[in-house]
Amino acid sequence: MTRAVLTLNAGSSSLKVALYPEAGDMPLATGLADRIGPDGHLRLKLPDLHETPRITSHGVAIEAVIDALTLRWPDLDLVAVGHRVVHGGLRETHAPITPDLLTELEALSPFAPLHQPHNLAGIQAAMQAFPGVPQVACFDTAFHRTHPWEADTFALPRRFYDQGVRRYGFHGLSYDYVSSVLPADLTRVVVAHLGNGASMCAIRDGRSIASTMGFSALDGLPMGTRSGQLDPGVLLYLMEQQAMSPAEISDLLYKQSGLLGLSGISNDMRVLEASDAKEAAQAIGYFTLRCAREVAGLAAAMGGIDGLVFCGGIGENSARVRRQICAGLGWMGITLDEARNLAHGPEIGAGGVRVLVVPTNEELVIAKAARGVA
Ligand code: ADP
Repeated sequence: MTRAVLTLNAGSSSLKVALYPEAGDMPLATGLADRIGPDGHLRLKLPDLHETPRITSHGVAIEAVIDALTLRWPDLDLVAVGHRVVHGGLRETHAPITPDLLTELEALSPFAPLHQPHNLAGIQAAMQAFPGVPQVACFDTAFHRTHPWEADTFALPRRFYDQGVRRYGFHGLSYDYVSSVLPADLTRVVVAHLGNGASMCAIRDGRSIASTMGFSALDGLPMGTRSGQLDPGVLLYLMEQQAMSPAEISDLLYKQSGLLGLSGISNDMRVLEASDAKEAAQAIGYFTLRCAREVAGLAAAMGGIDGLVFCGGIGENSARVRRQICAGLGWMGITLDEARNLAHGPEIGAGGVRVLVVPTNEELVIAKAARGVA
């Protein structure tokens, strides 16, 4: 019998999968189904590459994953399935999926309208595909439930906090992984998860004490297509003077802003770095300036820092972005060794505050939680 746990990370038009053995940190298989719809395509590394076209839905993607895995391991015995779930509300720990939990998570969909419904669709598809196999929900918010009140609230009348208008923070699975592999002497760290979605977290003694993402996955840093922090007066203006509907504003803030909106070229950092256009350089400049400001702000929340860590597609791969962010932080003792920066780490600092590049591994956090319920 090949006993294993499966991890699923369902996005709006993608599904990331990994198959882990019952023990150990190396996956047996990893894969991605993207552009789910008429052009959907699944690529699974088993470790040889297995490809399936016409992935029209998350359910079809999961069936194709099962087909490929059972072809490769006819004796596959799935002992648990772990799911990434963006919003877990006030839950501090990951949890086995039950009908009651699903109802609770559905009620949180309005808090994360562009992510949560897809996560839940992935769970429904997996429950149909693997009846009787324990499933566990792993929340991006859970890691941040250690926020002190001042870092958890907005300066609104207190009743809104009680109603759930809080700084939940996201990317918690990534922060959990990164903080678990950091050198033990780093006790006050800012971790920058810079990908298509981007946020930063202040981690003291392994616990999140502040994060740039707040109530929704829109706050904080600018992202591929999301605005990041915005003067709330802009929203009032859009509603009152430009008569924009909530749906139009949502589309603007989630899908047309950030690097894409600023550059008018692309949401993809690689494309912007390769461009000679002034607007591309300005978009990167806005991104890195906001990142530098947030590093300083999060450091202040901890009374200083010992380490700055970069992860995520941009954080792990863009020497230019790291250079531009750190260029504004020399006064805090953050300086880069450029040769190491160009080599992508792992240590890229030139002394003072340690600066590290740590490839994140959300799947492993999910797999470990899934093993816990198996
Ligand atoms: P997601 O949030 O969707 O998981 P990723 O963490 O995969 O996103 O990050 C995607 C981002 O990483 C894109 O903007 C992409 O351009 C950027 N990226 C990936 N590789 C590089 C690279 N070599 N140089 C610059 N940016 C990169």
